[in-house]
Amino acid sequence: MIKSVKFRIYPNKMQKEFIDQTLECSRIVYNKGLELRTKSLKSKEHTGFKETSALIAKLKKSKKFAFLKQADAVALMQSMKDLDTGFKKYYKKTAKFPHFKRKTEGRMTYRTVNNQDSIRIAGKYIRLPKVGYIKVIQTMDVGRIHFATVERTATGKYFVSLCVDFEPGNRINEGNAIGIDVGIKTFYTDSNGNKVDNPRYLEKMEKRLARERRRLSHKQSGSNNYKKQRIKVAKVYEKIHDQRNDFLQKQSTKLIRENKTVCIEDLNVQGMKRNHKLANQITSASWTSFFYMLDYKAKWYGNIIRRVPNNYTSSQTCNCCGYQYRKVRTKNLRYWECPVCHAKHDRDINASINILKKGLEQA
Ligand SMILES: [Zn+2]
Repeated sequence: MIKSVKFRIYPNKMQKEFIDQTLECSRIVYNKGLELRTKSLKSKEHTGFKETSALIAKLKKSKKFAFLKQADAVALMQSMKDLDTGFKKYYKKTAKFPHFKRKTEGRMTYRTVNNQDSIRIAGKYIRLPKVGYIKVIQTMDVGRIHFATVERTATGKYFVSLCVDFEPGNRINEGNAIGIDVGIKTFYTDSNGNKVDNPRYLEKMEKRLARERRRLSHKQSGSNNYKKQRIKVAKVYEKIHDQRNDFLQKQSTKLIRENKTVCIEDLNVQGMKRNHKLANQITSASWTSFFYMLDYKAKWYGNIIRRVPNNYTSSQTCNCCGYQYRKVRTKNLRYWECPVCHAKHDRDINASINILKKGLEQA
């Protein structure tokens, strides 16, 4: 199996320049490829990955783009691969038409492939093609490296994510099954009656983010103060992201460790992201990552994830007798009593039990 591990790297000034150069060149090449493919769509010529990778060689020969020679050539090729994937997704209707990448001071990445140990860890250093040996804070041992994604954050930090071979250990769980109902206020409620709250510090950070963003909106775009404030905003984002990630990793590991089968609701997270409240946006974004983590950890350890279609009935159906009590939704009741069998329900616990039931029915 394969997993990705992320380490912070500390490039020196020269190395930063090399990395920044490849980041920028990858962006330019991507845009040039997109331009070519868009044009050929209009003239109905076929242009795919092969043609766009030939374009790189052509550009390097031209005077205007000769500087591309200085960048990591593998990364430039990967950029065209990403573009190709973008088009494939577009044709499959799972993504929008690829868009041009703007020059940005925000987060940027490039990906490069390990060719005969061109990427390797040596003591406190990691070797990257074209950049050489960079200081790295390695927090765990890694298996064979397939490729590396080099990242520069909006706050000017550098990271490397390595895609490595990985042998998941055997985990014993007792074949438990659980249903999960995610929410805005409580992060999730499970069918055993447990509630996991959103961490408190997030609320505080979200307030701070809103404040710093407001301040940014009052600065004149392009001014020095604007740049300083932009980094402040990016720093808060980064902190929220790190804390979120930590929380989600722990919660997903716990669920997978304790249960063989995890039943979740197939949520329309895209629709929820349109929600105007910032806190809610962050919460719904974290459901996506949470489900993603559950999926890949389930693959590692042989667990089963069952997705139950979301159709609003899970919260209003009595899990004891099956009666549908519409008032739960129309009146937004947190606690209710079933008018038929008189079972008393906490809305979210009841919903998670229904999700578990529906998930198990799929077996
Ligand atoms: Zn009932």
